Amino acid sequence: MRFAKIIPSLFGILLACILPQRTSSQTPVSGNRIVLAASVLLDGKGHVLRDTHIVIQDSKIVAIDPKAGPVDYDLRGLTVLPGWIDAHAHITWIFGKDGKNAGMGGTSQDDTYKAASNAWLTLMAGFTTIQSPGSPNDIPLRDAIANGILPGPRILTAATPLIGKGEQTGTPDELRAFVRKQKEAGADLIKIFASQSIRQGGGMTLSQEQLNAACDEAKKQGLRTLVHAYKDAVRAATLAGCTEIEHGTMATDDDLKLMAEKGTYLDPQAGLIIENYLLNKDRYIGTLGYPPEGFTAMEKALALNHELVQHAMKTPGLKVVFGTDAVAGAHGRNAEEFIDRVRDGGVDPMSAMVSANSLGAEAMGLADQIGSIAPGLQADIIALDGDPLKDITAVRRVVFVMKGGTVYKNVARTAIPLYAGVQP
Ligand SMILES: [Zn+2]
Repeated sequence: MRFAKIIPSLFGILLACILPQRTSSQTPVSGNRIVLAASVLLDGKGHVLRDTHIVIQDSKIVAIDPKAGPVDYDLRGLTVLPGWIDAHAHITWIFGKDGKNAGMGGTSQDDTYKAASNAWLTLMAGFTTIQSPGSPNDIPLRDAIANGILPGPRILTAATPLIGKGEQTGTPDELRAFVRKQKEAGADLIKIFASQSIRQGGGMTLSQEQLNAACDEAKKQGLRTLVHAYKDAVRAATLAGCTEIEHGTMATDDDLKLMAEKGTYLDPQAGLIIENYLLNKDRYIGTLGYPPEGFTAMEKALALNHELVQHAMKTPGLKVVFGTDAVAGAHGRNAEEFIDRVRDGGVDPMSAMVSANSLGAEAMGLADQIGSIAPGLQADIIALDGDPLKDITAVRRVVFVMKGGTVYKNVARTAIPLYAGVQP
């Protein structure tokens, strides 16, 4: 009985010693707590909030509360929204010392610095997460950014892609082994090329059976599949249960309908990728994969891509995400694709924003971490000088970038050039 009395009172003393400390460690330390004031806030899911404050503790959003203070960053007069997500950017793709296309395989110091510069430009353009499918060179860059060694967007990568070469690609069992090998190499997803380049006609390079094996094995390994597909390959990849179709040019309305039914994501490119090739024609022409005749095909493909986006937007239930396929010359200009989609693809501006926010996050299986402004999510927040719902070119004027609670950019509104097209 005595013990019973002593123990609770000992507990009382212990608690008395512990509690104040606990309380003080729960009280936000001012350095880790940031309050942003916003007059117009797009929450990433299609809603507009007005005159509120966002409270950030360490790396996460903890509250949306108009009464919270004191305000550390006054973003009133701007449009505040979640950091954008680019589902398809080749972050290590660069121009070489001769100024020409050098692809994404380089490992020299010069190549590495250029890849780091691509990451910086992408982050400064408001993209806080990208998917880079893929090069094994993405992995050390992904890890350096994740470990805080370099500034850049959060990167998900496919390591080495599976390139369809007909029967030569391998038996279904060999393709399954390839998928497992990428997982061991640290891939976050699997990239599959099921069509030739559009410059070569876009024919299928993997059979239905091969696609079934690759996408099924990825699913078994808990990985998503991104399939480069045009024409017939779109339907084949959808039937194989792959996660997302990249490009999708020349897909029929029936193919798009099937994708909507099966919940397959579509990542079409309305303009930037081809505009960038044409803009940098001298730097690409004659390099590997870019023969002169390819450029005529690309000019035609631009119109086909506009058509695809228009048809995709008219397909009920089809989940269209935002991806640019950014290569050398396009890093830091990713947001141009928003303008192309709205201007040429008939996409309404709010859908364009959501495609790079909550829907983009959902397609990556990260909806509970990024893509929206809500308590519990990563504090990936950007601000634009202008309202993209009224003038889509506001996406070029990113004046504030926070990723995981760290502010990387906060510039005077007038300090941003209208066209921030920097090319390393
Ligand atoms: Zn690509």
